[in-house]
Amino acid sequence: MEKIYKMNDYVMMKKPHACGTNLWQITRMGVDIKLKCDNCSHEIMMGRLEFEKKLKKILGDKNDKNKK
Ligand SMILES: [Zn+2]
Repeated sequence: MEKIYKMNDYVMMKKPHACGTNLWQITRMGVDIKLKCDNCSHEIMMGRLEFEKKLKKILGDKNDKNKK
């Protein structure tokens, strides 16, 4: 699987958030990745390696979504 992701992309993780939603937005990209739950706005941070391990699908940003 390609692991090309960018700021503001929406992603699905292997495990959904505790609130039941599995849609996250990348809100910060540095050494760590910051993700915001699209449903409850809860934010989590994790290292890039951990993020890529837990990542299931990259959905693209809002503009990408509208194109599909
Ligand atoms: Zn949530």
